[in-house]
Amino acid sequence: MASCTVKNDKVENFRYLIDEFADIKVIRYTVPGWDKLSLRQKEYAYHLSEAAKWGRDIAWDQNCSGNIALRHTLEDILENYKGERSGEQWDAFVVYAKRVFFANGVHHHYAEDKFFPECSREYFRSLGASEEVLDYVYDTEKWQQRRSTATDRDIVALSAVNFYEGVTREEVEEYYKSIEVKGDPHPVSYGLNTKVVKNAEGKVIELPWKLGGIYDAAISHIIEHLEAAAEVAESESQKKALGLLVEYYRTGDLRKWDEYNIEWVKDTEGTIDYINGFIEDYNDPLGRKGAWEGHVNIKDVEASERTVALSSNAQWFEDHSPVDPRFRKPEVKGVSAKVIDAVCLMGDAYPSTPIGINLPNADWIRKEYGSKSVTISNITHAYTYAAQESPRNLLDEFAYSEEEKELEKKYGAYSNEVHTDLHECLGHGSGQLLPGVSSTAMGEYSSTLEEARADLFGLYYCADPKLVELGIMPDLEAYKAQYSSYIRNGIFVQFNRVELGRPNTEAHMQNRKLIAQWCYEKGAADNVIEKKVRDGKTYFVVNDYEKLRGLFGELLAEIQRIKSEGDYEAGKALVETYAVNIDPVLHKEVLERYAALELKPYGGFINPEIVPVKRGGKVVDYRIEYCDDFLKQQLDYGKRYRAL
Ligand code: ZN
Repeated sequence: MASCTVKNDKVENFRYLIDEFADIKVIRYTVPGWDKLSLRQKEYAYHLSEAAKWGRDIAWDQNCSGNIALRHTLEDILENYKGERSGEQWDAFVVYAKRVFFANGVHHHYAEDKFFPECSREYFRSLGASEEVLDYVYDTEKWQQRRSTATDRDIVALSAVNFYEGVTREEVEEYYKSIEVKGDPHPVSYGLNTKVVKNAEGKVIELPWKLGGIYDAAISHIIEHLEAAAEVAESESQKKALGLLVEYYRTGDLRKWDEYNIEWVKDTEGTIDYINGFIEDYNDPLGRKGAWEGHVNIKDVEASERTVALSSNAQWFEDHSPVDPRFRKPEVKGVSAKVIDAVCLMGDAYPSTPIGINLPNADWIRKEYGSKSVTISNITHAYTYAAQESPRNLLDEFAYSEEEKELEKKYGAYSNEVHTDLHECLGHGSGQLLPGVSSTAMGEYSSTLEEARADLFGLYYCADPKLVELGIMPDLEAYKAQYSSYIRNGIFVQFNRVELGRPNTEAHMQNRKLIAQWCYEKGAADNVIEKKVRDGKTYFVVNDYEKLRGLFGELLAEIQRIKSEGDYEAGKALVETYAVNIDPVLHKEVLERYAALELKPYGGFINPEIVPVKRGGKVVDYRIEYCDDFLKQQLDYGKRYRAL
């Protein structure tokens, strides 16, 4: 029997939520597996992180050409201003500075719109800002959106991004049409690493972002650390990939970029992995230019082992599932998911960051060589822990009793993750259709029913002693946290995301409503789930966890039957009866209670620092240090990685 050790990476007495301003919250994440790395692995991660941090200025400059000069002004004022550093105007200035640091520029990181300080221009000037910088900050006409969403005018001219200069959309499109090779099965990502301008003769040309080109200073430091990393890589494959990446940075050759990606995607064995380059094209109105991004991560060994344990026992789960044996797969294979923990986020992935990675982007490489798809565990956890620390939070507002809250705090994040693993690794792959039944028989109800099937598989097995036996669940209490929060959310809390008067239409939300509502109604006679009202507030409370498990099993059997037999009418009836309509009274209540919490809709992160520990002039270890001050980290990076 495997032993169940750390099932919760929450560090005691560690503050996750660091700062809140405007519509933003800043969070810290921890790196649980760091101490298990060898010195060589730590050195590898250290140099990859340095290579990431040296790209920071590139992302700022790409977002808009005035951002770097503005940032230098903000840094100078925050570090050196000797006048009164308090009062309404100063506070407004500091909030503005934090917003700029969070967005890597003057445009909202998500909404794309330019935002403005609430202190006056006169005040900002009195702090020491130049007229040029003040124009950049206060001009309401120019640079309105980072990526323009206009439909009637030139989105290239209107976008503030620093990808094009003095060219129209038409000219850019003409240019790329003229250089792209038609019918190439292996097309390079034309325009990924260049700025498009006109030369002295008025001809459209590309200026590459490379060593000796634009961003030379930053890229030379990136190369220096990539080369140092290559020296201590975990494998020949990693070393080869880094060599190709360096060559690409030296030459700007997009063929090298593709070669690099092919080598990078092959390396699935390493503990440490990274992203470094011009990656996502969402910021470009024409969807070509890659925003610079850095990411360093280590494999979450425990979480990855968990998914391996599940998938290698896939047949046991299939054979014991509560569905009619005719609908079970005689031979089933589980999928094992890879889980990672971030060590360093940078550029377009910092401070706001994705919780999953799916790269490379080139379609032909994905098709011929595959892609890496991973979830970032410590980032997801940090969001959860930070939300619990917030004085006003969803749990305190919508959980009925202290007992329920304690259960959630102790097991919630972990049991939810195990549920997700069961859903992804086993749920979707389980079951079979009867001969002659079409896989498209469920029509427009198929996504909702399929998600419900996978969720129910996870919910049913969450509570199974087999998971404790496999060392996946710590005990027979942990699943209760998942049951309570699933019901609370599915029947009630999740509707804070739906406009009042609108029906529930999104497939995942429908599936959760279907399951929670069905169990609420079917278990009514036994009071399995009880609707309670206290001080005018409604709560949904699970009274009988074992009976609820029975209901999950029953509904799983029914939905599997519907799918296996292709019973469209029954599938339709389930969705339309239980998933679509939202009780208008409850809907109004949840929206009001949610609004009153005034939660910050956007979150982002502070990086831990990887600090070399020296003894006798030699590095003997690399230690992780956790910074707890957002501005301090930003100012520190400004000094240490100033390239532009
Ligand atoms: Zn799914």
